[in-house]
Amino acid sequence: MIHDRSHALFARAAELLPGGVNSPVRAFKSVGGEPFFAARALGPHLFDVDGNRYIDYVGSWGPMIAGHAHPQVLDAVARTMRDGLSFGVPNALEVEMAEAISRIVPSMEMLRMVNSGTEATLSAIRVARGATGRSRIVKFEGCYHGHGDSFLVKAGSGALTFGLPNSPGVPKALADLTLTLPYNDFDAATALFDEVGEEIAGLIIEPIVGNANCILPREGYLQHLRDLCTRHGALLIFDEVMTGFRVALGGAQQRYGITPDLSTFGKIIGGGMPVGAYGGRRDLMRQVAPSGPIYQAGTLSGNPVAMAAGLATLELIQAPGFHAALEAGTNALCDGLEAIAREAGVAFHTTRAPAMFGLYFREGPVETFEDSAASDPKRFGRFFHAMLDRGVYLAPSAFEAGFMSSAHGEAEIAQTLEAARGAFAEVAA
Ligand code: PMP
Repeated sequence: MIHDRSHALFARAAELLPGGVNSPVRAFKSVGGEPFFAARALGPHLFDVDGNRYIDYVGSWGPMIAGHAHPQVLDAVARTMRDGLSFGVPNALEVEMAEAISRIVPSMEMLRMVNSGTEATLSAIRVARGATGRSRIVKFEGCYHGHGDSFLVKAGSGALTFGLPNSPGVPKALADLTLTLPYNDFDAATALFDEVGEEIAGLIIEPIVGNANCILPREGYLQHLRDLCTRHGALLIFDEVMTGFRVALGGAQQRYGITPDLSTFGKIIGGGMPVGAYGGRRDLMRQVAPSGPIYQAGTLSGNPVAMAAGLATLELIQAPGFHAALEAGTNALCDGLEAIAREAGVAFHTTRAPAMFGLYFREGPVETFEDSAASDPKRFGRFFHAMLDRGVYLAPSAFEAGFMSSAHGEAEIAQTLEAARGAFAEVAA
């Protein structure tokens, strides 16, 4: 594959953008090599500036669950855009979006739109602190909740990919208020709450961890956390920026039957435009300005074009059988990869939540952060590039989940498995 144009752009970018990118994992640092620059995207495919085509399992890191450049989403954006890009006064689409989210996710009794997942999570913990009058928050090792100061403590995603789970620039006094727990460890959570439960404002968790590859909750674990929070008066916050509208229409909270006090969303509800949302119990959200004293605001929040893209996407994913088809596709892909790896004699394991998956260069099971981190990064890097050379784009980090979209049909999955045959042979050699 020729990458001359991408290479030239990356050289220009590196002069002005840190690492040549506007978000760290895009730089391909952990897998080696250089990123390709996108020219356009359609359905399951990305096309780069050199004319190469890739089957895309990143989907802009989650939003493109209905495939790239879906005509219904583009039409909604085009129609809305003609009336102006931003108003700075309320518009009807914001109300429609709030109603849609609240209908699909009943725990979202009241909510606020923001512009990114990061804004959603940092606003949610402000509400947790403001409403409880407590300062400490609890998060889980390997979970990523955006780059807010309080969350860059044992963080996942790019922070983990680059070995920077605790970032310089976060004041120690603030980081000290963030307590961390090992995901899926029942006893550690009980012990922490026994010790300092009355000081904890909120516990925030990725119910399925998508920022340390893909780790599913053990049976009863999320209920255990729900019970601990309830008993100690701490708020349970589900960060569903990744899992929301993906692992089930109503997200992980629907899939596991848990009602959090607050939730955060992003990605899919923007359909590819910059959007986030946080919300939950009405008595808590009523405390947000201007109906209450907890301050949070945004010049572009509820942007009409972003609402239009998100609403069109939410409409698409409510089609009957939408998530079942995604689950079938994810299973076909993961079963196929495991079978090919076995034939090639490569230690390999997959985890799946419908429409989301983890690839591990080790034997299973994978249930904890340690299990996940023990995947062989060199093998992953080799596999990543071997797949890329064959026209399949996987997340360029061993700590990021892969994403399935409704545009990935049998043909794309078959092509991916064909590519994997060659890629696993390379890894085995
Ligand atoms: N929470 C989770 C679970 C995420 O996966 C992400 C981003 N991948 C964020 C928060 C932050 O969202 P954003 O990048 O839109 O700020």
